[in-house]
Amino acid sequence: MVLDNLGSSLRGTLDNLRGKSRISEEDIEDIVKEIQRSLLQADVDVALVQELSNNIKTRALEEDPPAGTTPRDWVLRIVYEELVELVGESTDLPLEEQTIMLAGLYGSGKTTTAAKMAWWFSTKGLRPAIIQTDTDRPGAYDQSKEMAERAEVDFYGDPDEDDPVKIARDGLEATEEADVRIVDTAGRDGLNEELIEQIERIEDEVQPDRDLLVLDAAMGQSAKSQAADFQEAIGIDGVVITKLDGTAKGGGALAAVDETDSTIAFLGSGETVKDIERFEPSGFISRLLGMGDLKQLTERVERAMQETGEDEDDWDPEQMLEGSFTLKDMRKQMETMNNMGPLDQVMDMIPGLGGGLMDQLPDDAMDVTQERMRDFDVIMDSMTEEELENPRIIGQERTERICAGSGKPEERVRELLEQHKQMSQMLKQFQGMGDGDMERMMKQ
Ligand code: GDP
Repeated sequence: MVLDNLGSSLRGTLDNLRGKSRISEEDIEDIVKEIQRSLLQADVDVALVQELSNNIKTRALEEDPPAGTTPRDWVLRIVYEELVELVGESTDLPLEEQTIMLAGLYGSGKTTTAAKMAWWFSTKGLRPAIIQTDTDRPGAYDQSKEMAERAEVDFYGDPDEDDPVKIARDGLEATEEADVRIVDTAGRDGLNEELIEQIERIEDEVQPDRDLLVLDAAMGQSAKSQAADFQEAIGIDGVVITKLDGTAKGGGALAAVDETDSTIAFLGSGETVKDIERFEPSGFISRLLGMGDLKQLTERVERAMQETGEDEDDWDPEQMLEGSFTLKDMRKQMETMNNMGPLDQVMDMIPGLGGGLMDQLPDDAMDVTQERMRDFDVIMDSMTEEELENPRIIGQERTERICAGSGKPEERVRELLEQHKQMSQMLKQFQGMGDGDMERMMKQ
């Protein structure tokens, strides 16, 4: 993730401010240096870094913290606000009928993004359609069609036609019933005049409400000049940054945003249609700084609820904290978590659990992989009601019966019971926390 190390390094430097009653110029220098290092490592444009550094220094030294605010909280707040300013607003995308065109270099992730965005709009109750106009890349049609099926959205493409403008025209006609039409285009280099001329013609035909530039997060400073070329050809309203799940940096994309005077619309973080999130500046920066982002987490939980068909009432963490934690509860949790995405990403969004804590856990502590989950599911199918309610009664004899019934090895059954034990213990720890502790954790 962009600026991955910023949260932890900054927390360390900010901790030096604990107990101090005023902030010295030296303190601010240290903090700014830390931020600069992270930003430059993430390929953020030097001029942007300089501007941000100056703003932080000026504000931290010249503005007076409101009464009752500690220097640490005050500086953290300034850093947070300035970083939000740096990444900018989220691209305006009203949930209404519209046509969106995607442009970008080869392999930047356009086809994948088209399907992800279509899926995202479908979760908002709209009917999306993908129009595939990439006639250059063999396989683009099949890939796009398959992803549209996975996203369960309408699709138009024509593998026998080699004029993308005609496909676009036919596609618009064929998808009239859709609310949101996403037009995918072939990858092109801003320097290739012929291809640039072609995208201009597609744009003329489509008359999109928005042109989004898809950028691979690993792209460095060349993102800036590419963005300028696309900007000149079709005008860029927003940027989608893809592959943030890799060792990507993402700073180049920020330079592209700055260059085109546009904003970030979506972030892509994986290869499946669900690995997308709407860019939300304050949540994004909160997460980077390890402050958690409850809003996004709530969104994910809601989405997961819809998918598991669970009513929100059924998933009441407070009730779970009070009562005993059965295997049935654990199963419900696993289903929900499974639908929310990778556990470490979810944990990162919880205030107080983000950043540092995940780093302290052994690698396999959160390793509830899909395969294990499926096995656990099958194993639980072979348990009696009594065993699900009270797993303590499961001894050797019952284990053997469950293994025979589920066809899973004893080791897996034991893993399941161990996982349940660990989760119960974790919940007990939460129960042991006073309200004050909880509050402090949420505010962190
Ligand atoms: P296009 O040429 O711009 O249409 O790019 P594609 O959509 O075909 O993507 C190129 C490659 O990047 C494919 O292998 C995708 O699976 C992969 N990809 C796209 N987006 C992401 C992402 O957010 N994360 C990861 N890890 N891979 C991605």
